[in-house]
Amino acid sequence: MGAGITGAGIARDAAIRGLRTLVLEARDVAFGTSSRSSRLIHGGVRYLEQGEVGLVYEALRERTRLYRTAPHLVQPASFLFPAYAGDRLPLWKLRVGLALYDALSLYQSRHRTVAAAGARALEPLLASEGLRGAVVYEDAVTDDARLTLTTLQSARRHGAEVLTHAPVSALGRDDAGLWVGALGSTIRARKVVVAAGPWTSERLLGETGRHLLSLSRGVHVVMRASDVPIRQPLVVQVRGERRIVFVVPWGSRTYLGTTDTAYEGDPGESGVEARDYDELFALIGRVLPSAPLRRERVVSAWSGVRPLVRAGKGGDGSTVEISRRHQLIENADGILALVGGKLTTYRAMAKEAVDHVARGIREADPSREIPRCTTHLLPLVPGAPIGDDERGDPLIADLAARHGPAARELAARAAAEPGLAERLVDDLPYRWVEVDQAIRFEGVHHLDDLLRRRLPLALTDPRRGAGVARAIAERLVDARGGDAAEVEREIERYRAEVARETGDEPPAI
Ligand SMILES: Cc1cc2nc3c(=O)[nH]c(=O)nc-3n(C[C@H](O)[C@H](O)[C@H](O)COP(=O)(O)OP(=O)(O)OC[C@H]3O[C@@H](n4cnc5c(N)ncnc54)[C@H](O)[C@@H]3O)c2cc1C
Repeated sequence: MGAGITGAGIARDAAIRGLRTLVLEARDVAFGTSSRSSRLIHGGVRYLEQGEVGLVYEALRERTRLYRTAPHLVQPASFLFPAYAGDRLPLWKLRVGLALYDALSLYQSRHRTVAAAGARALEPLLASEGLRGAVVYEDAVTDDARLTLTTLQSARRHGAEVLTHAPVSALGRDDAGLWVGALGSTIRARKVVVAAGPWTSERLLGETGRHLLSLSRGVHVVMRASDVPIRQPLVVQVRGERRIVFVVPWGSRTYLGTTDTAYEGDPGESGVEARDYDELFALIGRVLPSAPLRRERVVSAWSGVRPLVRAGKGGDGSTVEISRRHQLIENADGILALVGGKLTTYRAMAKEAVDHVARGIREADPSREIPRCTTHLLPLVPGAPIGDDERGDPLIADLAARHGPAARELAARAAAEPGLAERLVDDLPYRWVEVDQAIRFEGVHHLDDLLRRRLPLALTDPRRGAGVARAIAERLVDARGGDAAEVEREIERYRAEVARETGDEPPAI
């Protein structure tokens, strides 16, 4: 249960191995942390400082695998990591750390060091005072919600069934075996894996779930690229803490993040507060002094809750030092839970869970053959990758970033029907054909599913999609035979979601 990246990964692996698989998701695909991350597929340079060499090695190996299996969604980028006088990590330490990073990637990528002048040549926006130089290294940028959706769609192609807006209300074991209560009925299963991210709790797992997780809230802020015109992702050191923040180019936008503060309460209710903007603007303003980092220039923002496994919790209650490792645990009823970890390592985490499930099934029935994991070999979207020549067509170029090889078919459909090739908003790459695709094939139930997680105008458009939201709501409601009142309800629901997450006034639609 749970259709974040963890549940999606498990469903895909299980379905590919021929296991009958059902995913039950309380809200929408990637509703939780998996649409609120820093959107990086990375080894995590900062974990080296914490001695988490194994975690970094695994993440870098998974990064390489994702380059192969999801090339359109995992794009390598050159990260610039400067060192200033007085920084916790001077240039020499960055060089040592990145040399280890190179080795852990098995030299799939290599860093280089540049002097202050070289760093400013690469990134003219960098403050020059106190700049000692920088390292340049490779990591990757993704679209977290799309990666989750695409993984689930692959699971469906292999036979998994996915039900969204289907919360699990209770689960347990009785004389007949494991049961799950959802949508007013009881479902029987041979194995149940809870992949509820920050919602994993005593309510779902009994005693095993008590005090299992520490939650930490992380906020990102979206600005216009014209206000923060950086050329490549930038890593900024946080003074006085073992923490870094990122500034990441995102088409016509740039996002900044993240904060890291302890959180209590419903993970679905976490939002952005005034102090989050202040913190990020102060940290990043130090190295990008000419950028107008002010509240009135903000395009949008998002807030996510990290499910951190408690073992190793620092005595001061801070969440910065807690390991980002995952854990596979089993409660007294034999219900499994897979928690913690990273977007980057989801495939390896899923393999561990499905290997465990397969062992259990074979122990009960030795005649049952369950194949080994092959998720590292099979592309998420079948078909030949879109070539550079095809990207000469701006429609294909826009679509390929989200749909990979399926962009060809979408482009053909868009060309055949008037209006479908148009962009929703001029300076953003989303096309009307994708609205049609989302409504017909991507499991959209509500307007916020579409405008937050399929084509995220809620994050990228200063008007939060106000110019097109009504037309989209009408298409969505029309497709299911609803009436005008339902359109209004969808719009109100979307406005409330945006206001809750960003802490701003709801958009006027
Ligand atoms: C600010 C921030 C930045 C991050 N940046 C990165 C990064 O750059 N790179 C990286 O690799 N990782 C990053 N991470 C970590 C990564 O995002 C998470 O590890 C990952 O998304 C967790 O996925 P999940 O599926 O376990 O949880 P979630 O995505 O939260 O999914 C859990 C799902 O379970 C559902 N659910 C809950 N209760 C029930 C119920 N009763 N019945 C049915 N369904 C239920 C929820 O609706 C939700 O969809 C970041 C995390 C945060 C918070």
